Amino acid sequence: MQGDFSNFGTGFAKDDPGPGFPSGAPAAPRQPGGAVDVISLIGNTPLLRLGRIARAHPGVEIYAKAEWANPGGSVKDRPALNIIRGAERSGRLCHSKTLIDSTSGNTGIAYAMIAAARGYRVKLFVPENVSVERKRILQAYGADVVYTNPMEGSDGALREVRALARENFGQYFYANQYDNPANWQAHYQTTAPEIWQQTAGRVTHFVCGLGTGGTFTGTSRRLKELNPAIRCISAQPDAAFHGLEGLKHMPSSIQPGIYDPTLADENFGISTEEAYAATRRLAREEGLLTGISSGAAVAAALRVAGRIERGVIVTVFSDRGDKYLSERFWDEGRQ
Ligand code: PMP
Repeated sequence: MQGDFSNFGTGFAKDDPGPGFPSGAPAAPRQPGGAVDVISLIGNTPLLRLGRIARAHPGVEIYAKAEWANPGGSVKDRPALNIIRGAERSGRLCHSKTLIDSTSGNTGIAYAMIAAARGYRVKLFVPENVSVERKRILQAYGADVVYTNPMEGSDGALREVRALARENFGQYFYANQYDNPANWQAHYQTTAPEIWQQTAGRVTHFVCGLGTGGTFTGTSRRLKELNPAIRCISAQPDAAFHGLEGLKHMPSSIQPGIYDPTLADENFGISTEEAYAATRRLAREEGLLTGISSGAAVAAALRVAGRIERGVIVTVFSDRGDKYLSERFWDEGRQ
């Protein structure tokens, strides 16, 4: 079994739907007086209509899930919560164990936030070259961070956490976001039903970037069950070296066990320049300060819009732009 991490440390069979958090239900009991805790704010994000950017395509509606509305600021709050809940239920995570995983930032932020609220220790393996803002946020939540070789990207961080998990199995809970079915199941159980409900079942196309593939796999799987005619389009960087933080160029990466490419009706390669330009457009034309992967998502959505007469396209804006403000691309194209 060496090298097969498909079920390592998760306690789930690969296709077991596993525990989840029902969409719309609070994650923790309500406090007296209607107060809530931070975990109960995860999910149920708004659906944004991108009216100005879609103007050139009058018969087409383009929408995006504003995943920065999650309390950790990204889409990764959903899988992180589902992974932690599943591990608590199966007994694989308890207060004597430290949660470990590799992450390029957002999953780490989500683990660190939820673990702080639940009283767990967290140790994260993060490529050295992630943005300074992400590093500062991880520190602020009190996570223990190991920086890995920037030349090896997220795969280098993955190799290091796997080695630690193998050597010290009893001490750690290896959350393993790349192979843990609780990742895609979070989207199957929450993101997809929310999209279905928020579009009143009118969604015709789902467009989504690939990192672990969890958002794409879980959401597409459920949407296609709800209506097999919905077309699901994945988007990924068009080259191994790219600036699309949070996304993976699959052909040159270690394949995540949870990613199901057969769900994609089409797969687009997006260049870093195209994503930067679309990210700037979102800020300047829609008033939406998003992360770069949201720019990639909207670039892909616009490609789809250019080909159809009518349709309801939904994509996912995984995080907000404030984590990327130190990047130079914001300065380009100013009048
Ligand atoms: N965008 C950003 C900014 C991310 O951090 C991630 C997660 N790595 C993604 C997109 C992709 O999400 P997923 O892992 O569900 O494919």
